Amino acid sequence: MSDYNWCHNPSCHEIETQSRVRGSGDNKVLRTVKIKVGRYGSYQPNIWNYFCNQRCLMEFLNKFGQQIADTYSVKQPSETPIKVEKTKEQFDRYNFRTDRSEPYMATRTTISLK
Ligand SMILES: [Zn+2]
Repeated sequence: MSDYNWCHNPSCHEIETQSRVRGSGDNKVLRTVKIKVGRYGSYQPNIWNYFCNQRCLMEFLNKFGQQIADTYSVKQPSETPIKVEKTKEQFDRYNFRTDRSEPYMATRTTISLK
């Protein structure tokens, strides 16, 4: 894999920013942003290896979203087995009239994966 990618937004080079200006004199251009792979460190979401920023990602999705949905289409819902646990627990809340903390009972719902 290359250490760099060009931003995948086909309109990246039309966005007017100083950082995209290349060339000299009367031969200046706006150029697609070159992205260093892993530029935000090892925990960086992979998507930022392909888009220079949120705007370029959204412009790409607006242009190709239908094709992406067609390619990775979802024909039925998926399900994840879970365990739902309801427990009665005592909590405290502040009463401004009495200037005191008062206990009350409430139901805590906990969802965990099976
Ligand atoms: Zn871009």
